Amino acid sequence: MLRLIRALGFMAPVPVVLLAMVGLSVAVVADAHQRFTFSALTILAGAAGATVVALGCWIYFGLRLSQVAAALEASLTSEQPVRLRVAGTPAERRLARAFNAASGAFVQVGARAAHDRLTGIVNRETLLTTLASEIERATRHHKWLSVAFIDIDRFKPINDTYGHHTGDAVLREIATLIRDNIRGSDLFGRYGGEEFMLILPETTPEEATVLAEHLRQLVMDHPLTIAPRQAIQVTISTGIAGDVGSQLQADRLVDQADAAMYAAKSLGRNRTYRYRAVDDNAPVRRAPISAERRAAATAIGQWASDTAAEALASVLAPQPHHGGQPSDLIATLATGMALQMGLPQDEIERIRIASLLHDLGKLAVPLEILDKRGALSDHEWQAIGEHPRIGQVILEQASSLREAVPTVLHHHEHFNGSGYPHGLRGKEIPLGARIVAVADAYHAMVHDRPYRNARDHAHALAELRANAGTQFDPEVVNAFCEVFADGVPPDGLQEVYNLHERARGGLRRIEAPAAATGPTNGNGKGKAPGAKPAATPVEPAETAAG
Ligand code: GH3
Ligand code: MG
Ligand code: MG
Repeated sequence: MLRLIRALGFMAPVPVVLLAMVGLSVAVVADAHQRFTFSALTILAGAAGATVVALGCWIYFGLRLSQVAAALEASLTSEQPVRLRVAGTPAERRLARAFNAASGAFVQVGARAAHDRLTGIVNRETLLTTLASEIERATRHHKWLSVAFIDIDRFKPINDTYGHHTGDAVLREIATLIRDNIRGSDLFGRYGGEEFMLILPETTPEEATVLAEHLRQLVMDHPLTIAPRQAIQVTISTGIAGDVGSQLQADRLVDQADAAMYAAKSLGRNRTYRYRAVDDNAPVRRAPISAERRAAATAIGQWASDTAAEALASVLAPQPHHGGQPSDLIATLATGMALQMGLPQDEIERIRIASLLHDLGKLAVPLEILDKRGALSDHEWQAIGEHPRIGQVILEQASSLREAVPTVLHHHEHFNGSGYPHGLRGKEIPLGARIVAVADAYHAMVHDRPYRNARDHAHALAELRANAGTQFDPEVVNAFCEVFADGVPPDGLQEVYNLHERARGGLRRIEAPAAATGPTNGNGKGKAPGAKPAATPVEPAETAAG
């Protein structure tokens, strides 16, 4: 069409010259009336020519431009470059070539923005955008969706030992290995550092765990060649979380998978851990732990509870009104009935313990009343009648151990969220846990460890300060540094017990001078004779430097 327009354009002088010649001859031979008619016809012919050409151009450029616009629109959404046919006039060919080059560059830029440059897999932004759209889809169709967080174990030492170049190669190789071994519907990308995310549409957490275990095995069985004849073995830890339909929430899923990944790390790495939802009534989020350790923990907890029950029962047993060990008989009878009725094991256990302790409240009732042979006065009846409620108060006091749960659970969290088991940050971490973390770290630092010697008090303080805000709560570190500026009391001294006693009495603040008696260390130097050896072994507190 453009050629036709061009050919017509080239031919423009011919009709113009013809028109001029005809016009001249008309001017010579024609009368005034004919000249007028001729002029009018000439103007009309010119106008008709121009409008027809304009219409042709309008139609042609309209069509051509909408083709270019459609191609441009397609290139916005397509992952492949959109190409225009290179044909037509030189200008058209040039336009097509320029468009094709721009579209190729456009796709490249898009791919670069969506992918991680080092590993070639998609990046965090793409992962999160995809997660949001997959959640929307799963919600609409009421489908399952799972997310896996994959973190390379002990990656930092690889960088430190073999250099970042090798670290990069390891990252690339692991990324490729995993990418090539997932299903077509899954999306695998780099979430950051040496952490990867796997989005698994229409997959339950159980199915995701099977897949993740397969990947873990694959990575473990795949030695990475880092130099000629030198290979290293790398392992991964994976956290899984999943949900169904409208229950799905991106933030929660990411948090849960992350927490599960940290749990996998704290359970010894090279494992897959599935986040388990817990009873909302539980006072703290249940820490995910492995089955065998859960069994061990349950056994120890059982032992603690038995010991407490026995200790209480042993206080009750010698009471004269019990006449020997009647509570034991009551417990035997109660347990026998519970067994006979086919109650579940834990219910039987609760009944057994409760039957041992059912009269606990009588400990607080004066003996004269309990042993009185004659009729009881109203006042005495009232005292007796209170014993079940007294039992309740005693047991509630004893169960205050449970209040230690949040502190125990979270004492390895870091203030900046990089700790475990839940990766809580800042004030999300219970205050008790933030305090114990500082005390625990101090204790670890001033005692010898297999991999380093004990540091002195000043070093330990400096280390605490250096990690305030990252590992530790700065306010807690300040409190520690103020109260123990000159040193801490040696283990096992009466003074320490006094301190604890005062704390139990509700003392809010410890006066610094009473506490400061000089540094101690794990060598026992500086300890008073007869001081207890460093108590239970404490896991080395992880400081950023150590
Ligand atoms: P853990 O088993 O607890 O995960 O130990 P880790 O050493 O893998 O853990 P940590 O998260 O402390 O270390 C991650 C390291 O990953 C720190 C950083 O130097 C390294 N890293 C992050 N991004 C890159 C990268 O792009 N290239 C290389 N070579 N290293 C990276
Ligand atoms: Mg790691
Ligand atoms: Mg990491």
